[in-house]
Amino acid sequence: MLEATCHCGAVCIQVESAPARVTECNCSVCGRLGALWAYYRSAQAKVVRGAEATAAYSWGDAPSIAFHHCRTCGCTTHYTGLGADALDRVAVNARLLPLDRAAPVPVRRFDGRDSWASLGEHGTWPW
Ligand SMILES: [Zn+2]
Repeated sequence: MLEATCHCGAVCIQVESAPARVTECNCSVCGRLGALWAYYRSAQAKVVRGAEATAAYSWGDAPSIAFHHCRTCGCTTHYTGLGADALDRVAVNARLLPLDRAAPVPVRRFDGRDSWASLGEHGTWPW
């Protein structure tokens, strides 16, 4: 069990285990946020504190994702799918995990801006 916490501590997400790898996406949102995503099923990642402390951002006529950030310190905490077709997935911002004491994991590049395909792994995080 690991805890992802925002900088001010208002938001805490418990995840079952450290991620085997993290994903860096270059889409219009992720590229701006600079998050590194660790994917979990909803049963493996729970917002245990501060669910009411986040603000969610979605866009478009049929939003499919809600990006959450702490309203106090601004840290991007996680995203979840919206709607009946949503995957059972919680993407936790791995930068909020205490991975500085863990073995580095591969970083996968995902081309969400253009081809919607994985571009493979490059480097490790944390460094
Ligand atoms: Zn915070």
